[in-house]
Amino acid sequence: MNIIIFGPPGAGKGTQSSFIVKKYKLHQLSTGELLRKEIKEKTKLGQQIESKINSGNLVSDETAGDLIEKYISNPNFKNRLIFDGYPRNLTQVKNLDNLLKKYDQKIDLVLKLSVSLNTIKKRILERKTLERRADDSEHIAIKRYKMYEKNIEPVIEFYKQSKLLTVVNGEKKITEISNEISALIAGIKGWLWDIRQYKYADN
Ligand code: AMP
Repeated sequence: MNIIIFGPPGAGKGTQSSFIVKKYKLHQLSTGELLRKEIKEKTKLGQQIESKINSGNLVSDETAGDLIEKYISNPNFKNRLIFDGYPRNLTQVKNLDNLLKKYDQKIDLVLKLSVSLNTIKKRILERKTLERRADDSEHIAIKRYKMYEKNIEPVIEFYKQSKLLTVVNGEKKITEISNEISALIAGIKGWLWDIRQYKYADN
């Protein structure tokens, strides 16, 4: 099972992804976290992207695509990925689709955590105090939210058309959201199980 989780910065994507990872033994592929790691470790890539990330802009589609291919191509993570922060535009949707086909995989569920700008501002400020992320000042947070919503709209529309999208109210309590997500995943697992049983019976 591969999942994509969407939501503007501060929507609780990270929290819910960690929950899913633990419960369903998936691997979290957070492009934002991987990119911040590159910066922290002062790699060549890290030095190239530092100012882009800190000013709230996106890195190139090629850079983000190279990062995710490392994981999609790794047999240890086959059908065990939760994409957090990818895809962010239609070019990335296409890249992801091609990569999944190349490595004989697919997306089973797309979650969108929806939250208001006011809630985001409040959470970003709380996180700033806890984590001291360099890109979390309020005006950058607002810029990231607006840019996120603008870029992500066609992406969300694509997954809506593909009938993979479920919108989850991200304003609810963390545990309520986790329970809702568990129910959705249980639905998929049940479905997969039925299909397998059916195939078995057929043979
Ligand atoms: P996030 O932690 O998902 O909010 O990502 C933090 C930052 O990493 C973003 O503001 C972008 O600069 C960069 N980033 C993360 N994912 C992507 C992506 N899929 N494409 C381009 N840039 C990304």
